Amino acid sequence: MEQNIPYKIYLEEQEMPKQWYNVRADMKKKPAPILNPGTLKPVTLQELSAIFCEELAKQELDDTTPYFDIPQEIRDFYRMYRPSPLIRAYCLEKKLETPAHIYYKFEGNNTSGSHKLNSAIAQAYYARKQGLKGVTTETGAGQWGTALSMACAYLDLDCQVYMVKCSYEQKPFRREVMRTYGAKVTPSPSMETEVGRKMNKEFPGTTGSLGCAISEAVEAAVTQDGYRYVLGSVLSQVLLHQSVIGLETKAALDKYGIQADIIIGCAGGGSNLGGLISPFAGQMLKGEADYQIIAVEPASCPSLTRGVYAYDFCDTGKVCPLAKMYTLGSGFIPSASHAGGLRYHGMSSVVSELYDQGLLTARSVEQTEVFKAAQMFAKVEGILPAPESSHAIKVAIDEALKCKESGESKNIVFGLTGTGYFDMVAYQRYNDGEMTDMVPSDEELAKAIQALPKVEREQ
Ligand SMILES: *Cc1c(COP(=O)(O)O)cnc(C)c1O
Repeated sequence: MEQNIPYKIYLEEQEMPKQWYNVRADMKKKPAPILNPGTLKPVTLQELSAIFCEELAKQELDDTTPYFDIPQEIRDFYRMYRPSPLIRAYCLEKKLETPAHIYYKFEGNNTSGSHKLNSAIAQAYYARKQGLKGVTTETGAGQWGTALSMACAYLDLDCQVYMVKCSYEQKPFRREVMRTYGAKVTPSPSMETEVGRKMNKEFPGTTGSLGCAISEAVEAAVTQDGYRYVLGSVLSQVLLHQSVIGLETKAALDKYGIQADIIIGCAGGGSNLGGLISPFAGQMLKGEADYQIIAVEPASCPSLTRGVYAYDFCDTGKVCPLAKMYTLGSGFIPSASHAGGLRYHGMSSVVSELYDQGLLTARSVEQTEVFKAAQMFAKVEGILPAPESSHAIKVAIDEALKCKESGESKNIVFGLTGTGYFDMVAYQRYNDGEMTDMVPSDEELAKAIQALPKVEREQ
């Protein structure tokens, strides 16, 4: 069998999943409902539909339907860059001299450079189907904004992106990719929204934050006719769309009779990890298989490993619904690490609940060791990985080295979420030996956690 496994396991086009998988349907204990920030009662479909497209609001609230058909138009778009390859890391194995077999699912094979396109096209599709004019969103590091711009261009939908000001200035190339695809990109905080004007007045010269950009994008959506707000991670609908990653991975492994032992993903808001593990976690929930699942987060923003499991705001402006999740507190501002996509204070409520139930474990890693792993990976496997993705690489290498010690030949599968072409400033810091590790102190964390909203709910 072993020799027959190709370097790249490609699925045929017709083997691509026709449905997304909703792991919530197979959870006996469901993630806690999201709450209206005003009433603190579970959000209704009607309330949610004022902010999000109706079909997406339905997906958000549905924790019983296991499978959702992927509309043909979305599958047509997926065909441009999917199925994505599952790659056997033969060269990395050799370099590490490990008996482990390492596989990675590469999601960087599209112009936006990450897995975020899987959900961007779905969200744009439902907006188009509802007859909307456009969508608004925020972007931090820029990956989500880029993906959404591509999806909106394809469907001829207006796209307004509020980009955190420091990224807007520091990542001009991401900004220009978005503008090339026709998006309107506004540095946040801006003077175009109430929230933005208030922020600019209170904190002159501020370079913005993700939480503030979210509040601006939501305001822009609800104050313009024919617009809705879309979000690139954290939400259950996003995990649903990202299940395409896990379904393809499982299909590719099954094709060659490979049984995964360890599954690893980096965790920011939890969407790629949640999508990758969904079908595997589903098997675990049904008692059909067992896997060791590891979520990897930056030591600078350790929501799973050092956060608390509680209701919290998803944004600093406190306009979005509250979610029960592992969180560091919406007031926690992570240090300016180079994995922008992992700088989020909370975690998907689905991933949080699975973690709480013990279906997955979590580890935090520091950025210099992450870049060391990234460089080794780039040298032997050829792909220049995104800093976010490299968190998973680091732990995959650690696990492979454990196998070397014990002599066990485990099958290690990890998600390689994107490429690092737009992260060369980070690589430059690393190459110049100027990168440092920033780990928040217990006091810092306690302060933000103390400020969590007091929500009394029967859990
Ligand atoms: C956004 C991003 C992440 C983190 O987001 P999740 O929702 O946790 O998946 C990871 N990798 C890349 C390349 C990203 O762009």
